[in-house]
Amino acid sequence: MLSTLRRIVQEVGAARDLQAALDVIVRSVRMTMCTEVCSVYLYDEDTSRYTLMASEGLNRKAVGRVTLSRSEGLVGQVGLREEPINLEDAASHPKFRYLKETGEERFRSFLGVPIIHQRNLLGVLVVQQNAKRRFDESEESFLVTMSAQLAGVIAHAEATGSLHFPESVHERPRQSRFVGVAGSPGIAIGSAVVLAPPADLSAVPDKDTDDIEGENQAFFDALISVREQMKSTADKLADQVPAEEQALFDVYLRMLDDNALGAEIAAVINKGQWAQGALKQVIEEHVRHFELMEDPYLRERAVDIRDLGRRVLSVLQQHQQDEVVWPEQAIVISEELTPGMLGEIPRDKLAGLVSVQGSGNSHVAILARAMGVPTIMGAVDLPWERMNSRELIVDGNLGRVYVSPSPELLTQYRNLVHEEKAFVEGLESLKDVPCITPDNYRLPLWVNTGLMTDTVRSLGQGAEGVGLYRTEVPFMIRERFPSEKEQEEIYREQLRIFHPRPVTIRTLDIGGDKSLSYFPIKEENPFLGWRGIRVTLDHPEIFLVQVRAMLKASVGLDNLRIMLPMISGVPEVEESLYLIHRAYHEVLAEGLEIQLPPVGVMIEVPAAVYQVADFARRVDFLSIGSNDLTQYILAVDRNNPRVADLYHSFHPAVLHALQKVVKDAHEEGKPVSICGEMAGDPAAAVLLMAMGFDVLSMNATNLPRVKWALRNMPLEQAKELLAEVMNMDNPRVIRSAVELALRHRGLDKVLGNRADLN
Ligand code: PEP
Ligand code: MG
Repeated sequence: MLSTLRRIVQEVGAARDLQAALDVIVRSVRMTMCTEVCSVYLYDEDTSRYTLMASEGLNRKAVGRVTLSRSEGLVGQVGLREEPINLEDAASHPKFRYLKETGEERFRSFLGVPIIHQRNLLGVLVVQQNAKRRFDESEESFLVTMSAQLAGVIAHAEATGSLHFPESVHERPRQSRFVGVAGSPGIAIGSAVVLAPPADLSAVPDKDTDDIEGENQAFFDALISVREQMKSTADKLADQVPAEEQALFDVYLRMLDDNALGAEIAAVINKGQWAQGALKQVIEEHVRHFELMEDPYLRERAVDIRDLGRRVLSVLQQHQQDEVVWPEQAIVISEELTPGMLGEIPRDKLAGLVSVQGSGNSHVAILARAMGVPTIMGAVDLPWERMNSRELIVDGNLGRVYVSPSPELLTQYRNLVHEEKAFVEGLESLKDVPCITPDNYRLPLWVNTGLMTDTVRSLGQGAEGVGLYRTEVPFMIRERFPSEKEQEEIYREQLRIFHPRPVTIRTLDIGGDKSLSYFPIKEENPFLGWRGIRVTLDHPEIFLVQVRAMLKASVGLDNLRIMLPMISGVPEVEESLYLIHRAYHEVLAEGLEIQLPPVGVMIEVPAAVYQVADFARRVDFLSIGSNDLTQYILAVDRNNPRVADLYHSFHPAVLHALQKVVKDAHEEGKPVSICGEMAGDPAAAVLLMAMGFDVLSMNATNLPRVKWALRNMPLEQAKELLAEVMNMDNPRVIRSAVELALRHRGLDKVLGNRADLN
């Protein structure tokens, strides 16, 4: 049963468009369940009606014509109730509605199940039979499983289908809208550039070419080069590999023959597709074909074909590297944006970012906020492969992408961009004034940095220190660990620019969603696995080099603070302190004169919340990493768009944890800051100030907004608000209460432009 399900889902996924996908569904399901009829009715929210979109067994002429209102007939009932309806005699049900055009009077038994994707009803899947009988439990559960698996595929095909390609140059493409997760606020209007990670076939976008000859040449050159690579590998392995394994190389080589895969790929190029896109299409088709085979040995061959494709792609990419033409306002789209990719994009051209995967607290979104680039994450239904050069609006406030927007929508959004710009320019005057509330409470605002560009911007925004310098970023943009000397130079630059202000450098926090290409970590549960301090304590050589580099960088400046990520227990604090002291003495022994810098720990896992006093006795300061603390308290992966709605820093459990940490740290006489993204959210900042945090550290973009909000919010009033919300039990209600309080003080502007533009 499982393999049948898998086969159908794959076939449907491979269909070229929505109609083809629906036709495959009805054909395959009818055959598998041995019913007389299988039909799909899709629901259209705009018209509130179902349309019979595909059917095997009902009159063909009815397809595309028969429609039903939201509550009409048995189909309407399945949709309304959002559960299966299984009837041995459909006609005797009071809601039965006879549809003459379909010829369904012959069929007595009826089983309908809703098709639901991310809580949205997409339609209803129905099977019918002549005989008067109730479908049994296994049939019902098969159809339910089928529908649940197909929902995502249908939603994707529907979204892709909503993209309209004009037939002629005179026709304007129609506007379509895709929903994602708000990643970094602001609005960007520009033209799409699709970026793919290297040697990843699935990430290659479609691209039309006028240079068919050039693309064919590039492809055949790549084939020759891969053939040579394979021959030389086969020769090298000749004495070490048994004959039958050797034979595999011959098979590979034959596949690469000009007349085999080569000819198929050339045929696609000749139709006007660039070489990489043609390679992807043909290889994926073969991979699917092999994956559907019953024989496990043949099924495994899919892996070989994919590997071959990857090799050819890698050579092609080496030669077609400088392809990207950057428009003035580039909106970069990728299936999975990574921090490393951000480094490749010319900053003066970058207007916005869209990632199909990831969520609002993925590291790439955090960097985008620091850079002030409007970003959408988790746009799961966006047909990113087909986006190159499309005109787009990225609404980073609401988490929406508009493709080929209408002139009216463009005007509306341009007005919003102007308003926003005027507001931000108005805040510039605050740069040199401190963050003091109307009742004279002073709260230092620091910044989080990672990229050189945001370091320079931060000073321009009036930051009083660095609360978190993420050292992973310089590690990620290299192809090997940076040496001690290289690290020293990078850290010294940070310390120098901010001097005499304090700079908190965090030891390497890789793992989770931050990986180094040269130090891969493969895990089932990366956020619960080998991450942060766990990695560096297992590799003291990496830790010691890094701490020595920090210490040397601070010579003569003495504004360094060292911070430890992902601490979950006292032994980790003690081992880290031991290594830091060791590095310190090694550096002293080299004759350098430095002070031992303050050392702090991050509170980012629930266990740490309960050990604040134990940590505080051993270190100089604490800093809450609320991005991770929220994900771990709520058990919501910060990187997963499916659960993004559940990720809520205003959750009462999170707020109570924050308050406890502040109280326990202060009882030990130690300062506590917060450097998670919530510190940069003006609404959250009001609560954090009232809780008594000693420093708020945030992205440079939001610092002026937070300063403006706090300069207009008396501490006493913030404390009253905090007392009120700490008695509330619902994160959404808490957020609304805080936003309302800001509105009452005339601070709505700081909440971002959320005008609803449907
Ligand atoms: C955090 O978890 O809140 C934090 C500041 O660290 P990062 O986002 O880099 O994991
Ligand atoms: Mg963290």
